[in-house]
Amino acid sequence: MSVEPLDLSISGLIYDGLGNLPKFGIIGILNGVIVSVGNEEIASREHIDATGFAIAPGFIDVHTHSDISLLHDGRGESKVFQGVTTEVTGNCSFSAFPINQANKQLHSEFLEGIGDDPFPLEWSDLNGYREAIYKNGVSINIAPLVGHGTLRIAGMGLKEGAPSPGDLERMGQLLSLALEQGAFGMSTGLTYVPSRYAPFEELIYLCKVLKSSDRIYTSHARDYDILGEDEFLGSLKEAISLARQTGVRVQFSHAAINDPNQWGRAQDWVDYFDSPDAKNLDVAFDVYPYDASSSALTQYLPGWVQAGGVDAMRTRLSEPSIFSTAAQELSLGWSAHKIPWFWDRVVIARGNGLLGVENGDSIEIAAKKLGMAPEALVLELTRLGGNSVMVVLFYRTDKDMRIFAQSKYSMICSDGSAFPFEQKGKLPHPRSFGASARALGYLSRETGDMPLELVIYKMSGKAAAFFGIHDRGSIEVGKAADIVIFNPETIKDQATFTNPTQPPVGVEYVFVNGQLVIRKGTQSDKRPGKVLNANLPAPK
Ligand SMILES: [Zn+2]
Repeated sequence: MSVEPLDLSISGLIYDGLGNLPKFGIIGILNGVIVSVGNEEIASREHIDATGFAIAPGFIDVHTHSDISLLHDGRGESKVFQGVTTEVTGNCSFSAFPINQANKQLHSEFLEGIGDDPFPLEWSDLNGYREAIYKNGVSINIAPLVGHGTLRIAGMGLKEGAPSPGDLERMGQLLSLALEQGAFGMSTGLTYVPSRYAPFEELIYLCKVLKSSDRIYTSHARDYDILGEDEFLGSLKEAISLARQTGVRVQFSHAAINDPNQWGRAQDWVDYFDSPDAKNLDVAFDVYPYDASSSALTQYLPGWVQAGGVDAMRTRLSEPSIFSTAAQELSLGWSAHKIPWFWDRVVIARGNGLLGVENGDSIEIAAKKLGMAPEALVLELTRLGGNSVMVVLFYRTDKDMRIFAQSKYSMICSDGSAFPFEQKGKLPHPRSFGASARALGYLSRETGDMPLELVIYKMSGKAAAFFGIHDRGSIEVGKAADIVIFNPETIKDQATFTNPTQPPVGVEYVFVNGQLVIRKGTQSDKRPGKVLNANLPAPK
């Protein structure tokens, strides 16, 4: 009996993505799916001998903001060159659906907060977004979440405070529709307008909708303690009580300690996951391997300055007396915790040339050059640029980050976007270009904090299981052939804060759905990525 040869076979040291020690073997691939894993020689049209390298499942980046960037450029260069094959999008309350065409301008301004140029938002739901992605093609897979800010704008505009029963019902229906169309869950961004307006009861309502479809809730820290229990753990306690009260699976987004008064307390934070409050709950968190964050500058303004959207903020700040009140309040610190400003630690990543500021300058330096007070510069930049001005904040410690990364509850993410290398002078946070490679190089080989199989697990099998991406995340028969081949001795991120747009070294091959997208530092013209559908049943 003649057997049809497979499309591809790969032999070498296989990390299965489930945290097991690596084993030598041969992987067989047909029609984009792994059909065999073993030691038998197999007939295939193409064979890759990966001796000397590590073979792993393509990385799943569970916290990204590529919703719009992949519409602008489907190559996804910054991620695919690291071996990322699936992006979980829609985080921190920002997603590209549902879009209420009547509120399109608000949607567009809001989405600028993730660092992209506007894109014509000509659809209303996930199916429309999926079509828009497929129009130009995409090199990597997308597992979309619904952003709660987008959902709120679609359902009730930028109204402050609690939703009316009608608003809530509308949001529930829009969320249900997105879940029916395959969204993997919902994210909040509880420091961002309008997600920050959500009272606890609104989140309970929406988490029940998520639970009824067995989808995930990802929670971005609030900057104050809504339950009034504990300043340090307040926002984590809020997320965990949502899990406790509704049974929803909860992923806490990008664990971090930004307040210098709390630096060094990562272990206290992690320990809460083992407390009686969190017992028997499906709760986890993600972290990215850097000691700096990045965000739209608007986020750091007092809440009342941001209220009502960019136009309202502009009008307000054009009034000199309001401007000076805002500057006064801003000078007291940021977030409800009044974290003190160190203006040399706030660096302009995307200033759009406003007031002549240069990307890479700190607010301290830029303000000095302009002869302005730092607070006045910040307000003037947001007045002129709305949500488009992005900054990098050096407000974290490496030590805390490493404790978060090593926790059994964590996954490793980027919190970045799939960007092209050409950034036209912008200096986005290097996490978009190096997070996965940095996890493998820095957190495993250089620091010795974790064995390689554990870092890989936190970026593949664990991520797939928790987010319900049932057909990927491990090298097993029946899984999609998303595969990365890298050199464990050399893999290293090259992206820095002053020169972020650098691919890492050490990634040899990347396959997405069985198709070759990266070969020795060159990207093919293939666009095999899919917008994944969460309705795929879990394996028995
Ligand atoms: Zn984020």
